[in-house]
Amino acid sequence: MTTLLINSIYRATEGEGIHVGIPQVFVRFQGCHIGCVNCDTKETWDFDPSFTMDLDDVMSKVETLSQDIIKRISITGGDPLHPSHIPSLIELIKELKARDYTINLEAAGTRIVKEVFDLVDFISYDFKTPSTEVKTSKELLFRFISEYSHKAQVKAVVSDKKDFEATFDAYHFVKKNNAPSVPWCLTPCYEPGEEFPMNRFQHMLQLNEHFGLPFRVIGQQHKWAYGVNAKNV
Ligand code: SF4
Repeated sequence: MTTLLINSIYRATEGEGIHVGIPQVFVRFQGCHIGCVNCDTKETWDFDPSFTMDLDDVMSKVETLSQDIIKRISITGGDPLHPSHIPSLIELIKELKARDYTINLEAAGTRIVKEVFDLVDFISYDFKTPSTEVKTSKELLFRFISEYSHKAQVKAVVSDKKDFEATFDAYHFVKKNNAPSVPWCLTPCYEPGEEFPMNRFQHMLQLNEHFGLPFRVIGQQHKWAYGVNAKNV
């Protein structure tokens, strides 16, 4: 029997990136060793076996939440692409595809997992900015875009000018190397406990103007709607 480490399964409206506003069912994996310092889901980091679920139970919860109306699933984490998750993740994806779900995968930008990426319908690939203290290799990003631009966005959480410039540098690198076009989304960060950072949003919009409008600047609307500390919304 296939078992998975699952933090939560819930229905919500996509709050960020180019699919903002689309209702979907989220399957959030438990377990992440990547360690972004500004992570807003640190409760997903432990590979705690008490989060184990059978595949049948995961599917049953998904079906209950989708009510046959929502046919879009977002697989997120934690880090669903951690090597220990891959066999169960593939089983989950195959089961979802067999039931006609469209699958979005949230990828942390630290690895390409071909056997997973080939199966899903869309991949949101993170470019990790300096403020995360995690690095996305520009070469890896170039490889990703070259292979999956037809079903991808690149997403970067930015907190300051240094983050913006690092993202622009990566954008320029892939463009210079003739990678295919792909949407790049800047997400001005809005951290737990913080007042809404209006100045940061305006600064990112202005930097984007100044650098020739390479990016879409899209905030996290679920945080505006429910508050910055709300979970599973
Ligand atoms: S990859 Fe995601 S879950 Fe893991 S530390 Fe970074 S933001 Fe948090």
